[in-house]
Amino acid sequence: MSTPRTFAFELLATGGRARRGRIRTAHGTVETPAFMPVGTAGTVKAMTADAVRATGAEIILGNTYHLMLRPTAERVAQLGGLHAFMDWPGPILTDSGGFQVMSLSELRQLDEDGVTFRSHVDGQQIRLTPERSMAIQDLLDADITMAFDECTPFPATHEEAATSMRLSMRWASRCREAFRDRPGYGLFGIVQGGVFDDLRAESAAALTGIGFDGYAVGGLAVGEGQDEMFRVLDVTAPLLPKDRPRYLMGVGRPRDIVGAVLRGIDMFDCVMPTRSGRTGQGFTRHGILNIRNARHAHDDRPLDAACDCPACRRHSRGYLHHLFRANEMLGPMLLTWHNLRYYQDLMAGLRTAIEAGDLEAHVAALESAMAEDDIPPVPDPLAEKGPGR
Ligand SMILES: [Zn+2]
Repeated sequence: MSTPRTFAFELLATGGRARRGRIRTAHGTVETPAFMPVGTAGTVKAMTADAVRATGAEIILGNTYHLMLRPTAERVAQLGGLHAFMDWPGPILTDSGGFQVMSLSELRQLDEDGVTFRSHVDGQQIRLTPERSMAIQDLLDADITMAFDECTPFPATHEEAATSMRLSMRWASRCREAFRDRPGYGLFGIVQGGVFDDLRAESAAALTGIGFDGYAVGGLAVGEGQDEMFRVLDVTAPLLPKDRPRYLMGVGRPRDIVGAVLRGIDMFDCVMPTRSGRTGQGFTRHGILNIRNARHAHDDRPLDAACDCPACRRHSRGYLHHLFRANEMLGPMLLTWHNLRYYQDLMAGLRTAIEAGDLEAHVAALESAMAEDDIPPVPDPLAEKGPGR
């Protein structure tokens, strides 16, 4: 019998404010800074669980809102919990459902106790409270449970942001009370407060007073822009305990992630690599390219020569272009795989650089490569055969 693993965060190295760490959970360890692919409805879209693992991902995110509506948390629990249900034996973080209730559902009604809304799937009326969110995430068997909060809309006045944040802090207390503590399982609180420094400070103080296993920064990447996001992180990250992981929710583009790592953030999630992959956008070391663009039709080079994913090692840009033009499902599958691999490579590079103490030089090299904005197109050999073609 192995001893039960406790939920823990170990800080292994720092470089400026950037942190290299390790999270221990009931289902394994996560090296940080880490990127979590989004497995919305019990699947990372267009990927098998084995493929997700092969990209280097150690932890994935599941969406409480989607899973509670379909197939329901009770059904997932009956079928062995989310790890068994989707064949992902590693750590899983679930969000609280709050963000999607606000963004996807209709006829929301918010009160002190919780929120009532209509399901976007079948119109059924559903009630979600801090206690119910904790119960659902427990049924899903999430290694990391997120506190149920109200995502403050953007833009919001100081008064609106304050009212919303204080409600979230009262809910955070109720989440802490309702959370069923087990070895290897953790509960994260979420700092809110919009773009207002005093509110972010008030929120961070309230959460650290309650005490959580990790701290998320919420309510960013909602339209405030990168400068403002970085400014809020500059203010907020130093207020969070050094011995707990820090998670920036819903971020982001590669440059956002790099900037947030430099400001002391450890964990990220975003639909960007998967969603972009399905629409033909590929992230490369030289920027983002749209594989549907005609200039890739005759290109026999890989999407990203430095990438070891199947899309890059075994296929040309011309083939990927063809798959998207022909609406073949392999196109979105290969590009999703590539994008997830790119994100995991990005994180691995940052981790190595923090350990080696050369993060600044590493980031400078990353940014100068991204600024090159793709390798110049090669001439089309068929187009050169002259008139008549
Ligand atoms: Zn690739």
